[in-house]
Amino acid sequence: MAEKLGVYICEGCDIGKSLNVDELVEYAKKSKLANICPVVKKGAVLCSPEGKAEIEADIAAEGLDGVVLCACSPRVKWDIFQFGQAVQVERVNLREQCVWSFKEDANVPGQLPLIAKDYVRMGMMKLSKSRIPAPEVPETFQTIMVLGGGSPASMPHSKPPRSARTWSWSRRPPPWAARPRPCTSPSP
Ligand code: SF4
Repeated sequence: MAEKLGVYICEGCDIGKSLNVDELVEYAKKSKLANICPVVKKGAVLCSPEGKAEIEADIAAEGLDGVVLCACSPRVKWDIFQFGQAVQVERVNLREQCVWSFKEDANVPGQLPLIAKDYVRMGMMKLSKSRIPAPEVPETFQTIMVLGGGSPASMPHSKPPRSARTWSWSRRPPPWAARPRPCTSPSP
């Protein structure tokens, strides 16, 4: 599980114009996960070189193993928001799923900040429960029998990996193949 989180709230792309970002920062600082979030801050443009450099500096200084980026959709800027295999990244989509898509209802005002707070809280909680999965390497067969493959020189695509034990049946049977035995049972 991610144990030291950094929470960053972007002000770019209308987020800062539509939401009180300082209030969101305070909300994250006072949440029940605040004890595992040594860094909670806003950024003017998180995807800029300066914005990314600031996050990287916090990761190095605080030993963060997870960052919650409250900005745009994870479908964009994914190539920028990568901080190495030891740091998990959670993208909270305040842009497309909040400020760009929600229209305040005059009869029920004040919904937008509540939606944003929910998203931020959910992103923090999700990352606090996430872990980097250990790769599962399946056991595979190391012996390959090629039937009718011709010589490797004539069919280079049939060439097996060096580690594989192979035998071409077109030349002679492999030593581990069952050899025909003479029939010893009496004739009917
Ligand atoms: S991180 Fe996303 S929301 Fe923030 S300025 Fe860049 S594109 Fe816009």
